[in-house]
Amino acid sequence: KLAHLPYRRTLQEFDFSFQPGIDERLIRELAGLTFIGRQENVLFLGPPGVGKTHLAIALAMEAIGQGLPVYFVSLAQLVNDLRKAYEENRLDKRMRVYLRPRLLIVDEVGYLPLDPLAANLFFQLVSARYEKGSMILTSNKSFGEWGELMGDPVLATAVLDRLLHHCHVVNIRGNSYRLKDKVKTGIYS
Ligand code: ADP
Ligand code: MG
Repeated sequence: KLAHLPYRRTLQEFDFSFQPGIDERLIRELAGLTFIGRQENVLFLGPPGVGKTHLAIALAMEAIGQGLPVYFVSLAQLVNDLRKAYEENRLDKRMRVYLRPRLLIVDEVGYLPLDPLAANLFFQLVSARYEKGSMILTSNKSFGEWGELMGDPVLATAVLDRLLHHCHVVNIRGNSYRLKDKVKTGIYS
């Protein structure tokens, strides 16, 4: 699969009128990919279905179109993979898979809490990419909830400190696109 993308979505397919809270100009600017040259990160925050993964994939496809190495992984996959490598004494080698791409997308930060080893491995990755390579992360959790997510507020602060130092944060507060037709047909009324 292309850069391990779970599916393909483009910016053209994104209906900005459905999500008026999103700064379309910022998204279009990000699609110019200068953030990758500056080793900046992008964080898409918001509840399920608002288009976080869609936008992350759309930016990934722009980068792929420019010939840049891109890798997509969910946080759950990432920490499971690194945990296995750690247990088999090949963490450094495996870590390279996630350090090599110019753009690493880590999807779904927050759906599953991290145990201490997983939180530590995530911190190691974020530290190693800090000011070296861009990441796009998506999360349903606000920053205040990352301490609980990582089971360690000090480690969460250290992760956020590095991620947010050079970062574009896109807060999406709208309705779920997945439920839009159901809302229209009135299953909630
Ligand atoms: P999230 O990652 O925020 O949970 P997704 O990005 O997976 O949500 O979006 C859910 C589905 O709805 C996907 O198929 C996505 O392409 C579509 N979608 C979400 N928002 C929009 C939008 N504004 N315009 C077009 N499609 C959208
Ligand atoms: Mg998603």
